Amino acid sequence: TQTLHIVGGGMAGSEAAWQAANMGVQVVIHEMRPKVKTFAHQTGNLGEMVCSNSFRSDDDEQNAVGLLHWEMRAANGLIMATADKHRLPAGGALAVDREPFAQTITDSLKSHPNVTICYDEITHLPEDGHWIFATGPLTSSALGQAIQSETGAEALAFFDAIAPIIYADSIDMSKAWMQSRYDKGETEEEKTAYLNCPMTKEQYEEFIDALLTAEKTEFHEGETAGYFDGCLPIEVMAERGRETLRFGPMKPVGLTNAHKPEEKAYAVVQLRRDNKLATLFNIVGFQTKMKYGAQTQVLRMIPGLQDAQFARLGGIHRNTFLNSPTLLDAQMRLKTKPNIRFAGQITGVEGYVESAAMGLLAGRMAAAEILGQDLPSVPQDSAMGALIHHITGGAEAKTFQPMNVNFGLFQPVEGLKGGRRGRKDRYKAYTDRAKTAWSEWISNFS
Ligand code: FAD
Repeated sequence: TQTLHIVGGGMAGSEAAWQAANMGVQVVIHEMRPKVKTFAHQTGNLGEMVCSNSFRSDDDEQNAVGLLHWEMRAANGLIMATADKHRLPAGGALAVDREPFAQTITDSLKSHPNVTICYDEITHLPEDGHWIFATGPLTSSALGQAIQSETGAEALAFFDAIAPIIYADSIDMSKAWMQSRYDKGETEEEKTAYLNCPMTKEQYEEFIDALLTAEKTEFHEGETAGYFDGCLPIEVMAERGRETLRFGPMKPVGLTNAHKPEEKAYAVVQLRRDNKLATLFNIVGFQTKMKYGAQTQVLRMIPGLQDAQFARLGGIHRNTFLNSPTLLDAQMRLKTKPNIRFAGQITGVEGYVESAAMGLLAGRMAAAEILGQDLPSVPQDSAMGALIHHITGGAEAKTFQPMNVNFGLFQPVEGLKGGRRGRKDRYKAYTDRAKTAWSEWISNFS
């Protein structure tokens, strides 16, 4: 009963197993491949990268994902050590040679005295024992159904429909204004939930032209899905008719431009607060499959967003993920079955690095629990803490969609200037503060 079972040997499961095993806990990894395949994985190896071979920026002073690298290295992370070992030249990014990478992850875990690997598919949520489910964006369908019957169908999604997210401080408030449609909302929080960007007829027509001609990404083979109504990409809405958006997410009704009350906007783009800190706003109803370059260009045509900085660009993918803010506690345990933790992309983080990071935390937390050790909560000022805090409570549950690590998730550092120069100082202040906080938390384990 003191064994830790980890389901899924991807980025998160491999890291969780390594961390727990190094703390002296017996670990069994259950991996369904190669017996049961996914459309994206090619091998039976653990830690397989399913698409690009990049861990993104390695800059730990100016980039939030680089900071996450730093924190994982400081915690003796297997994914980072192996990535460093098989690093390929790629400028400031950390690119890796994927085959030897996955082979080394597999070998490291196979040869670990505390780890056993079982090649089997788990299709239910056990009542007892210690479990971490790290089954990723392509969780097998039998397990997906078992999770849904525990959580309710609404709480587990099979596709993400990500609208772009913008840093609040890059929105031009001399053009945008704060107002909820028909001034709905009682509390101050509800009243400050929406920002609006007005468009004239001419701006709207240009915007539609740009949407129609923008480059789009295709679904991967095997990933195809009928779009669900309610989450159609904006470019598909525009293809259905030039007026569709003006009667959909861009409808101008119930809003008065605070800067020009006498002028009726022809269309309005609404942004909704995305986190409790109010540092991030998403563009309401703007899920899109436009390529990243095209997306930034087209979205900066929106008045007020001409200098927008994006914390996350939009997309639609096959992606199994939980509504973590409602389902998980601060230690990533399922509230209704606390013997079960979730980790990795299924918790609503996005990307190899973020998934491995949540695996690292889940592995350490589960091992500490088994060993009867008390852990202080993960400091919110670290990148790890900012991310886990976001998914387990900081994010708005109603509109929860997967998230990359980014500085918008951090509590602001006071007393720093705005602008480009100010941003550099701010990021350095975030990363310095994070390193101190993380080093202190990690020292609890020695
Ligand atoms: P995974 O790495 O997918 O690991 C989950 C593991 O669980 C798998 O090995 C799977 O076989 C196993 N499993 C599933 N169900 C069961 C079960 N019932 N029983 C036992 N085992 C099971 N991220 C990026 O950073 N860059 C990219 O370019 C990128 N491209 C992507 C392209 C596609 C098509 C997809 C689907 C995802 C992509 N991602 C990308 C996201 C990436 O897959 C994840 O960020 C990362 O792999 C998630 O790690 P994880 O450990 O949560 O899941």
